[in-house]
Amino acid sequence: MRMQLPIRVRLTLWFFMIFATATLTLLTACLWMVHQSIVELEANELQQRVRSVQRILELRPPGETPASQQRVLAIFDAIHGGKWLQVIDQDGNWIYRSRHVAEVYPQLALPQALRSERTYFEYSSGDTRVRALIAPIIVNGRSYTVQTGLSLNKTLVLLGDFQRQVIALSTSVLLLAAVAGYFMSRKALTPVAAIATEARRINDRNLDSRLPKLNTRDELADMSETLNGMLDRIEAGYRSIREFTANAAHELRTPVSLIRTETEVSLAFQRPAEEYRDTCEHIQRESVRMSKLIDTLLALTRADAGTEFLHMDVLDLNDLMRETAKKWTPQMRKSTITYMVNDAPYAVHIFGDRASLKRLLDILIDNAWRYTPEGGAISVTVLRDERHATLVVRDTGIGISLDDLPRIFDRFYRAGRPQNGEHAGSGLGLSLARWIAEKHGTSIDVQSEFGRGSCFSSRFECISGDENSRMNVLENKTLVVISQCRPVG
Ligand code: ADP
Repeated sequence: MRMQLPIRVRLTLWFFMIFATATLTLLTACLWMVHQSIVELEANELQQRVRSVQRILELRPPGETPASQQRVLAIFDAIHGGKWLQVIDQDGNWIYRSRHVAEVYPQLALPQALRSERTYFEYSSGDTRVRALIAPIIVNGRSYTVQTGLSLNKTLVLLGDFQRQVIALSTSVLLLAAVAGYFMSRKALTPVAAIATEARRINDRNLDSRLPKLNTRDELADMSETLNGMLDRIEAGYRSIREFTANAAHELRTPVSLIRTETEVSLAFQRPAEEYRDTCEHIQRESVRMSKLIDTLLALTRADAGTEFLHMDVLDLNDLMRETAKKWTPQMRKSTITYMVNDAPYAVHIFGDRASLKRLLDILIDNAWRYTPEGGAISVTVLRDERHATLVVRDTGIGISLDDLPRIFDRFYRAGRPQNGEHAGSGLGLSLARWIAEKHGTSIDVQSEFGRGSCFSSRFECISGDENSRMNVLENKTLVVISQCRPVG
C-alpha cells in the first residue's frame, strides 16, 4: 500500500503551493509592469531627443549649409556627451555624428530610404547595451534621418536589483507562509488528534466512554457527535446481546438443574420401577421444554443475524389456521376451556411462509391457553374482507395490565402468572411472533383488558387468484394496518 503523507503535511504543502503560485504570478506581473514602464520612459526620452533636433533645425534660417548646421548641433556634445546621436540630411551630409555611433554604424540610411514611422531597436557597443530610435524628420522642406540611443546599463542594473530584492522578499514570505500553514493545520487538526486518542482507548469493556464534545460548531464537532451517536447504538447492541446471553443462560439453567437433581436423587439408592418412570417422564417434559426454548433462541439469534430465511409462497390461511388450531382441541378440553375455531367457508390466499406462520399461530394459542383459567373461552378466527385476511386469537383469560402492555413483546419479559401448564413461559414467544409478522409485512395488534381477556390479531394482504396480484404482493410487501378487535366477554 502506498504510504500517504500525514494530513497536516499535505495541508501545509497545498497551502505552500497555492501561496507560491500566487506569489510567482504576482512577481512576474510586477516585473513585467516595471519593465514596461521603463521601456515607455525610454521611448519618451528618445522621442524627446528627436524633437529637440527637429526644433533646433527649425530655428535655423532656411537654406543654411550643412556645415553651419553641424556647428549648431555640436551643442549635443555638451548635453548628452553626444554619445548616441547621429543626424544625416537627404543628400548624405553628416549634420551631427557621435564617435560611439560612428564606430558601430558607419552608414546611416538616408531619410528617403526610411519608412515614415519611427523604429526602435537595440544594439551593443562594447559592453554597453543601447536602445535606439531611428526616425525621419522634415525641416524647412529638407529631410533628415535622426538616430539616437540610450545606454541600458543603468536600467538593467536597476531592474536586476529590483528583481533580486523582490525574489528575496517573496522567498521569505513563502517560507513564513509555509511555517504559518503548518502551525495553522496543526492547530486545526488538534481536535482530530484528541478524538483519535480517545477512540483508540474505547473497547468492548468501556463502551460507555464517549469522544470529547467540541463546542466549535464545525464539521469536527459534527463528526464527534455522529461518532458518539454510533457508539450509543453499538453500546445498546452490545448490552442487548449481553442481556440476551445472560437471560438465555438463566432460562436454561433451571431445567438443567432440575434434570440433574432428579437424576442424582434417583441414583442415590434403589427405588421402585414406578418412581423411575415418574423421573423419566419428568426429565422428558423438561427436555421438551428445553428443546423448545433452544429452538426459539436459535430462531431469534438467526433472525438477528439475518440468516433465518423464510420460504414465501401462496398459501391458504384458512387451511393453515384449521390445521394448527385443531391440534389444540384435546388440550383445551383437558383444561375445560371452551374452544372455538371459526374458519372461513372458503380459501383465503395470502403470501407467506407456512412453517413460520404456523409457529406464530401456535405461540398465540399457547399464550391464550396458558393465561386463561379453567372454564374460560378461546376462539381462533380467520376474517376476510375484500383485500385482507385477519387472523384473530381471542381469550377470556387474565388479560394484561396497561403497564405491561407496551412491554410484552420485549425479549424475556413476563408479566402474568400462567393458569395452565407447569411452568412460567420464557418471555420469548411474542418477540419471535412479532418478528415473523414483520417478515410478512404486517404486525401484531393487541387489545386487552386486565382480568377480562385479550385479543391478538394480525392482518395479511390477500391474493386474488391471478398472477399479477401475486407479483404485486411479492414486490410491495405492503405494511398492513392492524384490524380492530375487542376482547371476548
Ligand atoms: P411467555 O413465554 O412468558 O408467554 P411471551 O413472549 O409469549 O412469553 O409473552 C410475554 C408476556 O405477555 C407473558 O409473560 C404474559 O404476561 C403476556 N401475555 C401474552 N399473551 C397473553 C394472553 N393471551 N393473556 C394474558 N397475558 C398474555
